[in-house]
Amino acid sequence: MADHHHTCFSNPSIDKIALRKRLVILGGAESGTGAAVLGNAQNWDVFVSDNGPIQPKYQDELNGYSIAWEQGQHSESKILNANLIVKSPGIPKTAAIVQKAIEKGIRIIDELEFAFWYTSATFIGITGTNGKTTTTLLTYHILKQAGFNVGLAGNVGRSLARQVAQKDCAVYVVEMSSFQLDGIDTYKNHIAILCNISPDHLDRYDGQFSQYIDSKMRITRNQSTDDYFIYCADDKNTAEGIKRNPPLSQQLPFSLHKIQNQGAWAVANILHIKIHKQYTLNMQDSTLKGQHNAYNSMAAAMATRLMDVRKESIRESFTNFQNAEHRLEFVQKVQGVEYINDSKATNVNSTWFALESMNRPVIWIAGGVDKGNNYDDLKQLVKSKVKMIICLGLDNIKIHQAFQNDVDLIINTSSAKEAVHVASRMAKMGDVTLLSPACASFDLFDSYEDRGRQFKEAVHNL
Ligand code: ADP
Repeated sequence: MADHHHTCFSNPSIDKIALRKRLVILGGAESGTGAAVLGNAQNWDVFVSDNGPIQPKYQDELNGYSIAWEQGQHSESKILNANLIVKSPGIPKTAAIVQKAIEKGIRIIDELEFAFWYTSATFIGITGTNGKTTTTLLTYHILKQAGFNVGLAGNVGRSLARQVAQKDCAVYVVEMSSFQLDGIDTYKNHIAILCNISPDHLDRYDGQFSQYIDSKMRITRNQSTDDYFIYCADDKNTAEGIKRNPPLSQQLPFSLHKIQNQGAWAVANILHIKIHKQYTLNMQDSTLKGQHNAYNSMAAAMATRLMDVRKESIRESFTNFQNAEHRLEFVQKVQGVEYINDSKATNVNSTWFALESMNRPVIWIAGGVDKGNNYDDLKQLVKSKVKMIICLGLDNIKIHQAFQNDVDLIINTSSAKEAVHVASRMAKMGDVTLLSPACASFDLFDSYEDRGRQFKEAVHNL
């Protein structure tokens, strides 16, 4: 008898069923579906719930693994019995279903945290208000070219969880938004990069800038003395964050102005990277332009040097890097006028760097959904560089008020085509027309990508 019982209870398939814990995933897009695939592979009882529609390609993927899902609703009876919830970073904590889960004491994490549990890869995490994608792609490009088994994840690329489930890498370069950082717990970056901090998304942080700063500092969470923290020494908001949340990791600052003991700095176009030994990179050899990209380049150069990539290899990668669309992207020259698409500039700080990097008279296309912008920081640059402003938005009153004394002409337009048309008629040979809105796009466009594409199409049709 005893033997029989023994056999029965040690039967692995029965144990498995008894131990299968319920994993509920809120949000069925890239990160949610990826988490479902990983959860399924790790023998969780997985359920995906999205209160909007789930794209057909994700439906197919879930069905392919026989993972249960629902769309257009959150069924409490199928969600609040979870042992663990993986929440899409797009769903705020204040959402009713999240509040109910919190009340029930269910653990809620982010997809990155979940994926981290099941891999022993080395993580390079990148955050900041501006420059995340550029720095992430550049770091990934350098490592890839140097022959690393490296994956791209987070806000760009494919879901980390899906990669861990299907083809795990040795190193991941992860773009982390502050919403994603809010959802990590044991996740640790071996190398953390904080590009910069300026006011953005304050609607999600009760209007408290200090909360947003602290959220960004979570990029260093769980780091120890064997890890690294790369940050901008010229940014006073980052300095405030470090003071309040001092990391345990080794600090490597970068600066455009100050020589660093260990870290990076720039003298004119030459970047100096000093980690133990010193080496230099010439921004003139790089495909990236502008001061902001000197910052991004110093950060990526340090991170990859810490991974032991040879300096010759880093130099070479700088010369053949292709950045993502809509970031100070050169479109075309038409009748001696350059057109530049910087539609991704959705806040004042990113537009500041765009205007700063212009060295011809600028026709500036700006506007859209204002996220509580303060335009004071742009006034000096606008006075010295901008000939005229073309507003591209439904409500442009703040732009008129801010700059009416700084430029001769401000014109309202309500489509990319109209804005480009006006620009082409007003521009003189040698001018540059810059779309760098400092605002979100949702009044007239689906997204910043849509705005950038419509702009480029209008330019190509000139
Ligand atoms: P993110 O992913 O953080 O939004 P991107 O690399 O996509 O950053 O760039 C967003 C916008 O900010 C673009 O207009 C780009 O030209 C500008 N930008 C890029 N890097 C920086 C930086 N270090 N500081 C300020 N603006 C930047």
